[in-house]
Amino acid sequence: MKRLLLLGGIGEALRLARRLGPTHIYSLAGLGQVPDDLTCQVRVGGFGGAEGLADFIAAEGIDLLLDATHPYAAQISRNAARAATLAGIPCWALRRPGWQAEAADDWREVDDWGGLTEALQDFQRPLFTLGREPLAHLHEIPVHQQWTVRCLQALPATPRAEIIGARGPFNLEGERELFTRLRSDVLISKNSGSQSTEPKLQVARELGLPVLLLRRPQLPPVDREFANLDEIWQALLEAGV
Ligand code: NAP
Repeated sequence: MKRLLLLGGIGEALRLARRLGPTHIYSLAGLGQVPDDLTCQVRVGGFGGAEGLADFIAAEGIDLLLDATHPYAAQISRNAARAATLAGIPCWALRRPGWQAEAADDWREVDDWGGLTEALQDFQRPLFTLGREPLAHLHEIPVHQQWTVRCLQALPATPRAEIIGARGPFNLEGERELFTRLRSDVLISKNSGSQSTEPKLQVARELGLPVLLLRRPQLPPVDREFANLDEIWQALLEAGV
């Protein structure tokens, strides 16, 4: 049987890890929850770059590396592709497709935080749903804006920002209530493509709100790419994992 090293960080990776037997290793950065009810081995924390990961692959006799990290976690994806080359094993990746705008949607892509700040100038009540990054900019909130930041970590409110700690999945009803309570006039998000966080886009659509999307990072080429879990599972079975 081939030994798999699964790099996780998103829901699909955990669902895949739940199907793996004790030969295989599921690796997490350690920022989120670490499951303690899996049959496969679980390791937590960085490897020390591509070289460290290649060393780990060699030491553990890994036959196949599967990158199922978040589409915006570009560093670990680069490391994975490089480490697999160094170690002489294949690298496969889950490359979840991004969300697609519908005809009437007003979605605007921005490259980085600078582009985002500029695109936000005309709005008063932005709702940030792209992780922790806005927390480093709370001292820069323009006087005409009141921010809401939803991320994993809850923090006390500041005079012009509410910080909501929440973990998906989010449902449509809850998202409708949130947007109404906050009177948000623009939604900010990564284009993660995850079903579990998609309802906010539906609510923005219903309310006719613009959505500012942080552009997806470039990811390295790998030996095989898969769009969803079923495709990966089928390929793993065929490969003898
Ligand atoms: P990143 O910038 O691409 O990676 C930073 C470092 O974290 C990597 O160089 C690696 O350290 C370590 N790392 C990341 N994923 C790992 C894994 N599965 N196993 C072991 N080490 C890992 O990633 P990030 O954006 O900080 O995200 C960190 C983790 O959270 C990722 O696993 C990602 O899938 C997940 N996540 C990210 C986002 C997001 O928006 N970025 C959202 C949801 C979940 P070494 O170089 O020392 O090996």
